[in-house]
Amino acid sequence: MNTPPTLAPESSTPIAQACSALHAAYAKGWITHRDGNISVSDAAGDGFWISQSGVIKAQLNVAQMLHVPADRLVPGRAITAPAGASGEFALHQLLQALLPAGFNTVLHLHPTHIVAAMFANWDLRELSEQFPEVTRYTRVGRNVPPLAATSEELARACAASFAPPQSDMPHIVGLDRHGCVAIGHSPFDAFEHVERLEHVCQMVLASGARHTAIAQTVASGIKAAQAIQTA
Ligand SMILES: [Zn+2]
Repeated sequence: MNTPPTLAPESSTPIAQACSALHAAYAKGWITHRDGNISVSDAAGDGFWISQSGVIKAQLNVAQMLHVPADRLVPGRAITAPAGASGEFALHQLLQALLPAGFNTVLHLHPTHIVAAMFANWDLRELSEQFPEVTRYTRVGRNVPPLAATSEELARACAASFAPPQSDMPHIVGLDRHGCVAIGHSPFDAFEHVERLEHVCQMVLASGARHTAIAQTVASGIKAAQAIQTA
């Protein structure tokens, strides 16, 4: 019998809990061995910690979390990623700078049903609005259109989805053809946002219901991303 995935207790350090979140994500089939990445802000206020690139995330350990000190971070400007840091460093850097008070985590995964729902043309925000299981605890943002993994464009489009001009910051957004990004008060909290959205995506896909208005959603997403790129 398979052992169910477990998360480190809330009392563990954020960095230990970050590793545990990636182990649990692998156990749930939300990433393959080396996929996914996570960052947590430094508890002492000195920048943040980010998972190393290319390592086996199913066994991520605290020595594979790299420190990015605050004096390396220039507000509003991307810096060169520290050697060995996650390929999605730019995304983590931009989102860490946007995190509201009390939040410390940015988590990126490839959950099967979230990706499948976007592939089937669902806008995850519209989809989740029908389910109190999500809306009671988790705000879902607009899908980020298909953009190259690890690119600066993806990082900017993702930051734009997390910073809507006239509404509250979402807890999670989907990256079309790719995965999702969640933020949280802790790695455990970010993991729970992914779990809720993944669960309702699974239910909707199991129902066989199809979204029909979606060409339009994807087109407007791409337009928004182009506007960001040229800004
Ligand atoms: Zn990815």
